[in-house]
Amino acid sequence: MITWTPFELQTAQPFGIARWTHSSYERVRVDWTLDGLTGRGEAAPNAFYGETGATVPAVLERLVAVAGDPWEFRTLAARLDAALGHHPSAKCALEMAALEVCALSVGRPVREVLGLPGGPVPESSFTVGLAALPEMAAQAEAAVARGHGILKVKLGTAQDEAILAALRDVAPAVTLRVDANAAWTLTRARRMLDVLDEYRVEFLEQPLPADDLAGHAALRRSARLPIIADESLHTVGSVPALAEAFDGVNLKLAKLGGPLQALRALELARLYGLEVMIGCMIESSLGVAAAAMLAPLCDWVDLDSPLLLAADPVAGLKWTAGQLELPPGPGWGVEWVG
Ligand SMILES: [Mg+2]
Repeated sequence: MITWTPFELQTAQPFGIARWTHSSYERVRVDWTLDGLTGRGEAAPNAFYGETGATVPAVLERLVAVAGDPWEFRTLAARLDAALGHHPSAKCALEMAALEVCALSVGRPVREVLGLPGGPVPESSFTVGLAALPEMAAQAEAAVARGHGILKVKLGTAQDEAILAALRDVAPAVTLRVDANAAWTLTRARRMLDVLDEYRVEFLEQPLPADDLAGHAALRRSARLPIIADESLHTVGSVPALAEAFDGVNLKLAKLGGPLQALRALELARLYGLEVMIGCMIESSLGVAAAAMLAPLCDWVDLDSPLLLAADPVAGLKWTAGQLELPPGPGWGVEWVG
């Protein structure tokens, strides 16, 4: 039996990117029960990818009708895609739940069922969202004081240079990554390349609009630092088209349709010589536990969502500043505490 329950996440601070600032996020938990065991998945819908807190419950009924046997998890995505296009976060929740109920039935972590390595996990970045400049500087300073060694800063404003200067001021030694969330023009991005070098930025995520692959390719030719696709990567099948325009890709389970789909994208990215980051939406430790399973296979980790929440309904992920330990399991190894 498969059921679903909407829930809401609040971030501790309003969380801002170039497109929006929110404090509250509608999420859906999917429970797949078989022989007294329940596998769980999280849907983290994102309007940019055509989903909302309302579309997920609305489509789950149709998706559940074709879900079948959870042990056929390798073909679940194909059945879901044949039933209904898009809706990747709803499909992600079902794939997560299928994987966990199978793993629970053999008493092992999901990663062991799939034959994936248990570590080591690269340190995760901690995200500094867009806010008033003193607030961003204060958040960065506090993160460094808590022991974070990598900050990912949201950009895409008229004062991006000032943001970088302020952050470098309070965090001179951290690894700094930036994400413009598709907000720059090619001219603006070209001008920013020297600024990014000046502030020793490690990589630049999604400077230009998602469909501007030619612009990204042109920018990449004059950039010293790697350029990473996030919004430009919508589906597993879009990976090959990104190889000319980007140095790497940011994989998120909620936009790709689940952990196995992210794994397919990861393998495809490697075939095309791309670097790989594992990322997340604002989601609970349930969704992040599933994403973390892929972290040992990735170059970069950006899974700090649980650290941004006012309250996490899921317990069991152990963090030391930005260093995440994969839980020993079984299943996703985390507990719903509400
Ligand atoms: Mg991004």
